[in-house]
Amino acid sequence: QKIHAPDDLNRLLKEIHQQAMQIHSGKVADYIPALAAVEPEQCALTLTTLDGEVFNVGNTDTLFSIQSISKIFGLMMAMDRLGDDLWQRVKMEPSGQAFNSIVQLEWEKGIPRNPMINAGAILISDVLVSHYSTSKNAVMSLVRNLCGNDRIYADEDVHASEKEHGHRNAASAHLMKSFNNIEADVDEVLDHYFWQCAISMTCENLARSFTFLANAGVCPFSQREIISKRDAQRINALLSTSGMYDQSGEFAFTVGVPAKSGVGGGIVAIVPDFGVISAWSPKLNEFGNSARGMFMVRELANRLGLSVY
Ligand code: GLN
Repeated sequence: QKIHAPDDLNRLLKEIHQQAMQIHSGKVADYIPALAAVEPEQCALTLTTLDGEVFNVGNTDTLFSIQSISKIFGLMMAMDRLGDDLWQRVKMEPSGQAFNSIVQLEWEKGIPRNPMINAGAILISDVLVSHYSTSKNAVMSLVRNLCGNDRIYADEDVHASEKEHGHRNAASAHLMKSFNNIEADVDEVLDHYFWQCAISMTCENLARSFTFLANAGVCPFSQREIISKRDAQRINALLSTSGMYDQSGEFAFTVGVPAKSGVGGGIVAIVPDFGVISAWSPKLNEFGNSARGMFMVRELANRLGLSVY
């Protein structure tokens, strides 16, 4: 049963995108040259619904660096391999610290607060490197499958410069290794993590690939069960508490759906039993979330009354 007519949704997306174009605050991520060079005014908004419809406005077929959004792909694969044992090695609590904070890691003896902060995703990368024969191929084939697009790739420029500038991530990895919470070679783990951050996707790719999370683990485009309903619920719970960095509480308060952002300016918001909203615009607010992206996701969710709470 359709809740909203396609014409109305198209009009609404256009209107929200136009309003977002009036926002000029924020700053493109500049910690590596490959991200600093992205054209800052680009802006895209996609909505997918569980009956397989896709609505696009703006630069929805431009590739960008998905960065931290890749943490969801890694997590799915680690959950698949380790089952509940995974939660001995990474917690499920919000951190209340910046995504690249190291202090908490020392207090908590090398166990990251959750899989959505950098330390948590590096720990997950260790699980992938240790439990898949070629971890990068495994992630890439999952991502290509989910997008239904065999041309998705990781950007080698971004990968190389993440590596060159990733001293804080390296420090977290070594700290976890010192607490025996990293099994594999630290350099190999970091290489996987940086590579995964460098995956490029479009706004439409993002929305399509995560629609299974809004549909109890089943992709509505292919009808395939990607993960179990229980795992989909658990990932959504983690996204609700930790997906939007230090703005996760405010996001739950003002938007009210599980979501994940990346410093490339992408945001993907999961609306259980409805669909997915993805947004992309490179300029980031002080929390590292896309300024226009936050506006568009919030506006669309509010206008359609999508909060899960
Ligand atoms: N590559 C970035 C980092 O490791 C990813 C972080 C992000 O998107 N928050 O610092």
